[in-house]
Amino acid sequence: MSRRRQIYEGKAKILYEGPEPGTLIQYFKDDATAFNAEKKGTINGKGVINNRISEYVFTRLSHIGIPTHFIRRLNMREQLVRQVEIVPIEVVVRNIAAGSICKRLGLEEGEPLPHTLIEYYYKDDALGDPLIAEEHIAAFNWAGPEEMQDIAAMAIRINDFMSGMFSAIDIRLVDFKLEFGRIFDGDYSRIILADEISPDGCRLWDMKTGEKLDKDRFRRDLGGEEEAYQEVARRLGLLDGENSGPGEVFDLNSHRTKLRGTPVKPKK
Ligand code: UDP
Repeated sequence: MSRRRQIYEGKAKILYEGPEPGTLIQYFKDDATAFNAEKKGTINGKGVINNRISEYVFTRLSHIGIPTHFIRRLNMREQLVRQVEIVPIEVVVRNIAAGSICKRLGLEEGEPLPHTLIEYYYKDDALGDPLIAEEHIAAFNWAGPEEMQDIAAMAIRINDFMSGMFSAIDIRLVDFKLEFGRIFDGDYSRIILADEISPDGCRLWDMKTGEKLDKDRFRRDLGGEEEAYQEVARRLGLLDGENSGPGEVFDLNSHRTKLRGTPVKPKK
């Protein structure tokens, strides 16, 4: 089907060789997994929405000076990104207690944390992504001390920015996961934000109703996951043309990209 070389297939995305050296194409699937892939399923249209939400968030983050791998969205399910060497750490930022921290520390879901917490998990599916301390990161040289300073500083800025962005649309940013990568320039390397930011890796609660608008709907069999992801995109203004990419209007119902001001004629 595709003549492009596949570099990697993950749980929710596929990476293909990009058109130029140092680039990759990130393809967003509808596949969903939870509990270290013990639970598998699909969320219809998720890949399309996550591609769009992640494009939007990465673009806004780049406007506040966060370096990211995002170059541009190519189509409904694909974006062009810079190839990075992934730092094997999942960075989780928590504002409110939910998920694994509740089990681990006996906290009540929804309890505000005394202050924002940053946690690190070692990216290793076979080990179930264990929680690690910065000591482990240094000891095993998964990232250097300066890299960790950059990662922590970016994580805090991203949290501040995204908390405001979501609270403006009545969504509470409970927690989220980030991944970072290295790009090389001669003898030097620097850290940039990689992967994606979408309801797959964030906990997003409606501020008024407390309704979950994220992957917990799938994890906990609550139903309505497609609608929840769409609702996040809709509130961000991504479904009706507002804030959409240059000259493009997103139309989920037709699953077709419209050109602004140009009526779309169905292709035969
Ligand atoms: N998260 C993620 N990928 C993972 C683990 C966690 O995207 O492999 C996200 C998750 O969606 C949540 C946050 O990181 O927004 C914190 O997740 P937690 O540690 O509570 O794990 P969970 O209970 O969701 O497995």
